[in-house]
Amino acid sequence: MLLRNTRVSGGTGEPVDIRIENGIITGIGPSGESGPSGDDTRDLGGRWLSPGLWDNHVHFSQWALVQQRLDVSSAGSAREAVAMVAAAIEAADADPGSTSPFIGYGFRDALWRDEATVEALDALGGQRPIVLVSGDLHAVWVNTAALSLYGHLGHTGMLVEEPAFEITRRLGIVDDAQLDRWVDAAARHAASRGVVGIVDLEMAWSLENWTRRIAGGTRSLRVEFGVYAQHLERAVALGLRTGDRVNDLLTVGPLKLISDGSLNTRTAYCFDAYPGREGEENSHGLLTLPPDELLPLMRRGVAAGIVPTVHAIGDHANSLALDAFAELGVRGRIEHAQLLAATDLLRFAELGVVASVQPDHALDDRDVAEHHWAGRTDRAFALRSLLDSGATLAMGSDAPVSPLDPWVTIAAAVARSRGDREPWHPEQRITVAEALAASTRTTVAVGQRADLIVTGTDPLAADVESLRRLGVAATLLGGEFTHDTL
Ligand SMILES: [Zn+2]
Repeated sequence: MLLRNTRVSGGTGEPVDIRIENGIITGIGPSGESGPSGDDTRDLGGRWLSPGLWDNHVHFSQWALVQQRLDVSSAGSAREAVAMVAAAIEAADADPGSTSPFIGYGFRDALWRDEATVEALDALGGQRPIVLVSGDLHAVWVNTAALSLYGHLGHTGMLVEEPAFEITRRLGIVDDAQLDRWVDAAARHAASRGVVGIVDLEMAWSLENWTRRIAGGTRSLRVEFGVYAQHLERAVALGLRTGDRVNDLLTVGPLKLISDGSLNTRTAYCFDAYPGREGEENSHGLLTLPPDELLPLMRRGVAAGIVPTVHAIGDHANSLALDAFAELGVRGRIEHAQLLAATDLLRFAELGVVASVQPDHALDDRDVAEHHWAGRTDRAFALRSLLDSGATLAMGSDAPVSPLDPWVTIAAAVARSRGDREPWHPEQRITVAEALAASTRTTVAVGQRADLIVTGTDPLAADVESLRRLGVAATLLGGEFTHDTL
């Protein structure tokens, strides 16, 4: 295949032609000098070419489920919520013949002036059950088809408390075939944002799921799947090793170990006590894998060829994870690395431990961090300090926690701000080029995999708002189009 008339982002800006054979870039030359056009030629019209993007931390099934649910939190009335549902069902993405429930979530009806009735949803006319879950999860608003499905025919108005919880629970149970369709849709959507690969840290055993999905035609993404501690022996018994290819798109990923909790729940394990919790139990957070449990798990993984990645959010948890990598003398990753002791910064580079970070969380958590980590936030989400200390960053979304959209992630790292707010610790901002480097695994060069994205704007020249919403005209994975609006 020949991609004609494109400019390589970060290159000279001169139009070039790119030849791709067997999924690999085999030639880059001045545009128009590549010989006659064949059937397999695409003119990129001077658009920009960059390497395809990776999301280094996702929970893909969870993301696929959330993607199927309509966010109705902005509805100011029942009428508005119904209009949002109508528009979403009509949208091209919705599977028209589906009899699985259409799910919305997040409505807050306390101040609505109109009533949320079964009839209002029935007026949308479909046979498809519709379930809208309230923002506090204590109520569901359904149509007659859903009343029938869940055994509440005859009920009028909203279902609250027990029946609401029961329905919400059942919504989370999805058969493999249905989930695979949603995963495929989510994978295609990711490709439309320029994603060519993910590290899937879904907590389930993933080998068969992804093998089946890829065999079934989900070919929009490369997938590295993580193995959790509870599945370590199963992976060892199968002889799975990190980096092993299962098929052309599927690779065995890391051993995922969770060593502490989270910031929002004040369970991230820190050197300092959480303000107001001094002297209480777990005042410093929760160490879920103390060294005498973490080390044997890491050792077992390493011996079998499965490289550890350790979830560590608090500074003390990070310190202990780094100690463990030092003691074993192995490389690996730390997931999140949200709060770091100044003395630990240099150790990432020294030990060859990659910091797998989620910059968009910094913007969700900045106020919480200022409260729970008061006086310490100069060391929180310290991307600039990590890079300056020589560490390698791998960026991701932790979807569904943040949206699986690398441009949102990149913009967060570059701006450390969203909307009109002043940047949070602007000294920790990184450049677009650095953020892209932390989101890519290839370059646009001869001999590299043809995992590529085509954009109308040069990402390196885009301002933050355009970066966050950057339009991707096409995505290629191994030289095949996985997204194409050219
Ligand atoms: Zn995660």
